[in-house]
Amino acid sequence: MLRMHLPASLAPLLRTCFALLLTALAIGANGAASAGTPAMGRFEQLRGQDLRVARVTYRLAIANQAQCAAVLTPQLGFVLHRLEQYGPADRQEAAHSFGLGVHVGVMAVVGDSPADRAGLLPGDQLLSINGHDLGEPAANGDQSRRSLDRAEQILVEHMRRGAVTLRVSSASGEREIHFVAERGCPSNVEFIPGDEVNAWADGKRVMISDGLLGRCATDDDLALVIGHEMAHNLLHHRQRLAAQGASANTMLPAAAASAEIRAAEEEADRLAVGLATAAAYDLSGAEVFIGRLMGQSNVAAATHPDLSRRLSLLRAAIADVRRGGEPGVIPKG
Ligand SMILES: [Zn+2]
Repeated sequence: MLRMHLPASLAPLLRTCFALLLTALAIGANGAASAGTPAMGRFEQLRGQDLRVARVTYRLAIANQAQCAAVLTPQLGFVLHRLEQYGPADRQEAAHSFGLGVHVGVMAVVGDSPADRAGLLPGDQLLSINGHDLGEPAANGDQSRRSLDRAEQILVEHMRRGAVTLRVSSASGEREIHFVAERGCPSNVEFIPGDEVNAWADGKRVMISDGLLGRCATDDDLALVIGHEMAHNLLHHRQRLAAQGASANTMLPAAAASAEIRAAEEEADRLAVGLATAAAYDLSGAEVFIGRLMGQSNVAAATHPDLSRRLSLLRAAIADVRRGGEPGVIPKG
């Protein structure tokens, strides 16, 4: 695998969201995409995927400031990475391609974000924020996840207080970047390279796989997927299901899912519609997209009670939210 996924300490609970299609879709064209691709091509492709996920996430987060008023969080507007995230065989090439050294690096910058307007560039390495060091260089893969989290935490803490000065280095030397971060919905979304076709939420973070990203033909599709997973976290579904005794070990297929899990999925779909609509994404193709994504045609969906129900609720939610209906209340953090 090009870049390792370094899981957060808590096991993901809501892994059923889009995982039904695993066996049906794992053999799609995407699985072969990275094999035999020249290294620079693979790395540039990875940067493009990271940027696509970050761009849609950022737009959802910013456009829903009112909806997330109780939990507003500074939005980085850029994607961080570390050299230790890459497999040993790819590390030298990754260092060269991305300008990565011992520091946290900037993988991608969302266009027209404050950081972008201030001149932050992909390939910059972050040295400090407001004079504060961004943490120790990672010693190994496991620590790199924590050191990346730590660096993000320090950045957010400073951005929460107001204007920030980032000291960065690149091939052309060191410089300073000044900006004030936008605030938006908490939205820690991570792109996972590899063959899996899924997206899931662990309570704080959202993961979206390469396989699923490839099946989102448009950013409208992607906004629905990311919005759904953000909704699980915003609505505290992980904690609620844990309190109700739904365990991470009972990853039931939708047909057998408990009423609690199904209710959480339906709430997440509805809030996703609200988040995507507020961000001006076009959901006119949402029903067809979800129907296809779940590995079935709309005709087959009519005979599949769970998918049929999901699609019909989705259609109703889109119509209702367009009329100004409440997509869900986001509780205080
Ligand atoms: Zn879900």
